[in-house]
Amino acid sequence: MDAALAVEHLRALIRIPTVSRADETQIDAEVFARFRAELARLYPRVHSLEHELVGGGSLLFRWPGHDSGDGRLGPAVLMAHYDVVPADEPGWTHPAFGGDLVGDGAEQRVWGRGAIDDKGMLCSILEAVEAALAEGVTPSHDVYLSFGHNEETQGSGAAAIVSLLESRGVRAGLVIDEGGAIVEGLLPGVEGPIAMIGLSEKGIAGVELIAEKQGGHAATPAPNGATVLLARAILALETHPSRARLSEPSIAMLEAVSARASGVRGWLYRHARTLRGPLARIMARSGPEQAAVVRTTRAVTRLSGSAGDNVLAERAIAMVNVRIETGSTVEAALNDIRTVVGDSIEVRLVYGSDPPPVSRREGPAWDALSRAIADVFPRTIPSPFIMIQASDARHFSRISDSVYRFLPFDLTLGERQALHAIDESIRVSTYLDGIRFFRRLIDEL
Ligand SMILES: [Zn+2]
Repeated sequence: MDAALAVEHLRALIRIPTVSRADETQIDAEVFARFRAELARLYPRVHSLEHELVGGGSLLFRWPGHDSGDGRLGPAVLMAHYDVVPADEPGWTHPAFGGDLVGDGAEQRVWGRGAIDDKGMLCSILEAVEAALAEGVTPSHDVYLSFGHNEETQGSGAAAIVSLLESRGVRAGLVIDEGGAIVEGLLPGVEGPIAMIGLSEKGIAGVELIAEKQGGHAATPAPNGATVLLARAILALETHPSRARLSEPSIAMLEAVSARASGVRGWLYRHARTLRGPLARIMARSGPEQAAVVRTTRAVTRLSGSAGDNVLAERAIAMVNVRIETGSTVEAALNDIRTVVGDSIEVRLVYGSDPPPVSRREGPAWDALSRAIADVFPRTIPSPFIMIQASDARHFSRISDSVYRFLPFDLTLGERQALHAIDESIRVSTYLDGIRFFRRLIDEL
């Protein structure tokens, strides 16, 4: 691997601002086309493979295997997305689309939006495949590269790729996409780095609470107007959170990390299965992130009432953003909300998708991933978990029971907090390890 060249490639691609925006008229299609042209220039061997443009901007490559049928994994999909969230906030230490290379030694970094999420992952895959092609490697089965162009907004590109693969009868033995990273200190009492491999992610729904009452002039308000009914409903949701429960993958996570925890905590984690009730209640009280792991969450994000200062609302509406725990459904979450807010409130589902199936935590794909992690990150142990955020990977459950959400980067808390915020940057050593990880993983495919 030519490390200096790999770094130059990442810098060049950060400089092309492929920004996704919810308002599609604000997206510059020419920039996305320029990015794809640059990709073809930087990775000529990958582009000599069969490839196509799908869903208006996403890229699908097929690296043919020799189909030896030796009972290994079957086809694999390596995923990334090349759009980024905007970098409109001021205060960046180095320009968001500058791709600056700063510092030296272990602290040398590439700066800019997408350095980690997800151009870092994209380049890690491309560098590894380009190198393997140069070595003359042929995988056992087909390897697909799936690069979405609108993951940060609607994710329709990745969904279109899955539909295409499905129509061609492709079943994948392994799918890998962004997700958990290699982290330290995520759980109290756990020592050393843990590779967090997402087996699934929470479902999501948008639910409106609607209160209706006769309107009138604000000078003569009657009790229990629409806004008051709505406020009561919102408070009821706050004081009646959904039940805390430790899902099967969360139990598996605690059991996996227990090897790295000593004392009382180690004992607790080792007995997570028998102690699932009390552990769920402890986690629900330990802070917003831990609570989100053990329950369906509801957050009221938007409110509307009347249009005028002096007009009583005839309709007051609250939008609730609901994140649904693994093992539950949109329907169950809706029913819970209806029970809590009562009959005076209309509960309307605006959009929703159930949590995707949980991927397998054993078998050839999990083993291949674990071996690649062990070789490249020797002090690290793999652990399953459920992702709290939604990702493009959810669509791939339709064609695979082994969809893993894993970013092969060791990231500090500060680096993770810079995602979707200011000062996103990646350590060069982290990026190079990511390339090594994918190059090693290719040997398993
Ligand atoms: Zn991302």
